[in-house]
Amino acid sequence: MIFRQLFDPESSTYTYLVGDPVSRYVALIDPVLEQVERDLTLIHELGLTLTHVMETHVHADHVTGAGQLRERTGCLVVASTLGASCVNIHVRHKDVVRVGALSFTVLATPGHTDDSVSYLLNDRVFTGDALLVRGTGRTDFQNGNAGQLYDSITQEFFTLPDETLVYPGHDYKGRTVTTIAEEKRFNPRLAGRDRASFVQLMGELNLPPPKKLELAVPANRACGRALAPPQA
Ligand code: FE
Repeated sequence: MIFRQLFDPESSTYTYLVGDPVSRYVALIDPVLEQVERDLTLIHELGLTLTHVMETHVHADHVTGAGQLRERTGCLVVASTLGASCVNIHVRHKDVVRVGALSFTVLATPGHTDDSVSYLLNDRVFTGDALLVRGTGRTDFQNGNAGQLYDSITQEFFTLPDETLVYPGHDYKGRTVTTIAEEKRFNPRLAGRDRASFVQLMGELNLPPPKKLELAVPANRACGRALAPPQA
């Protein structure tokens, strides 16, 4: 498999380049607008064809590169039926996205946002902000719901094989990957907590809003190609 984990230092976002070494068709999961040149250069250097951009959700902390990548390569943009209307392929739970010989299975994993999906590919799962390394996405805006997130994590992720590799949408401490077994044991928001205690914890986080919330959400609803009109 072709697999690269790329990083945007400003938003601490991971973008994944994943593809089939035979056809050389690849997907980018959660590309960042400011990193489009980096991503296209790598794709060109490696002799790859970008067929899909796959979004895990409408992001609040960075603008997606999806629209620009689509204009420049003709790739298809994939996201949840509950996400941005500008995408080419709206997916729901258990849909399959084929990239060359690779088959990604869509898991509906709402809770961080209502449109959050994850993509399962053999021994690994791309969890967006639903499950992070020793953490989870927040649940206090964009129709977030802590109870729903607990159900997504315990019913979708924690029923995967323990050795499944978890590739998150972000990390702020330099960690790159984890496993289902590790998160069951060591995730401080989940280990030893029931649903009520998780909901209580998430309700008491009192986090400041993300810096780009007002810009990023409307821009991402347009696949990153339209920014919010200036406020009077
Ligand atoms: Fe997010």
